[in-house]
Amino acid sequence: MTRGFKEDTLIVASHNQGKVREIAALLAPYDLSVTSASALNLDEPIEDGDNYIANAAIKAKAAAMAAGMPALSDDSGFEVKAINGDPGLYSARWAKPDNNFSVAMQKVHDAIIESGSADRSCRFICALALCWPDGEIITTEGIIEGSYVWPPRGTRGFGYDPMFQLNGYDQTFGEVDPDWKHSVSHRAIAFQKLIDLCFQETPRRS
Ligand code: IMP
Repeated sequence: MTRGFKEDTLIVASHNQGKVREIAALLAPYDLSVTSASALNLDEPIEDGDNYIANAAIKAKAAAMAAGMPALSDDSGFEVKAINGDPGLYSARWAKPDNNFSVAMQKVHDAIIESGSADRSCRFICALALCWPDGEIITTEGIIEGSYVWPPRGTRGFGYDPMFQLNGYDQTFGEVDPDWKHSVSHRAIAFQKLIDLCFQETPRRS
């Protein structure tokens, strides 16, 4: 399904400032006013879908309906093969209650040690959902594969970035230039698919 994006404002349906920053950077070439669910004080819906696409759709739809404007949401996660894809859909929850990703990364490391597996493969997955106030939703997905690094390295990025190294590279996402991350990430891949489906004719900034 495709639908051209013709409106002049888009809500990033997230309360995660790291994601809002990355999505705003991806949207920067377009002549759009970008705001966020937290800036508009929109409630966070319960993410009870059983996959990333379903959760992204729940968030985009809740924001689009509440604000009467199109909304774009991201649902993403970090999956480690040695621990059967955990933390996966629960990636944000492993950092609760304080949103502390040093704690979440330590939990991942401890679980890997406990598993006894030497498999270091892991991946990031991103689902994007763009919902219009009339209820139409377009979704895309991006996946990147890498290996997990311990101890974590770097202070850039957010979430699990310091323990993720993209296959073929020797720096973690916590160490690399954010612009480079934005060009290769799971979010960039999902975003490119969304551009192809919806933003081909959206005016660009001159
Ligand atoms: P949710 O999509 O809001 O449920 O949260 C997804 C979680 O996955 C984030 O809070 C991060 O912990 C993790 N995550 C998703 N994308 C990235 C990324 O690009 N870098 C680091 N962590 C990420």
